[in-house]
Amino acid sequence: MNCPRCGLEVPENAEICYKCGNKLSAPAEKSYLERKLLEDSYDKKSEAAAVILSLLAPGLGEIYVCKETRGFIILAVATLCIILGIQYGFPYITYLILCVLSAYDSSKLARIYNNYVSEHNGEKPWN
Ligand SMILES: [Zn+2]
Repeated sequence: MNCPRCGLEVPENAEICYKCGNKLSAPAEKSYLERKLLEDSYDKKSEAAAVILSLLAPGLGEIYVCKETRGFIILAVATLCIILGIQYGFPYITYLILCVLSAYDSSKLARIYNNYVSEHNGEKPWN
């Protein structure tokens, strides 16, 4: 933070400014309830929703957790698997494997996303 009087950069927990001696009052600790309410107001992603979406169509879970590029690439690969399956009898198991991998990937991303949001006061990790 900066000293409000002289603008000097001072450590977050400093009690007085080293340069001008201005008394810096420490910000009041938030109560548990306040923190809980703040936490609930953050935009979080449901891991279950990410898994379900990925199982419906690989890539949807990633799109849900705001990893659009990754999601659309996976979705394109999955679509290609289906087209190849219809045209050339390409094994559909590849599609199912993609579903499972995408479900695992997007649930992990949702967890990272939520942890980041909690630790950075609602700020989003990507986008
Ligand atoms: Zn100062």
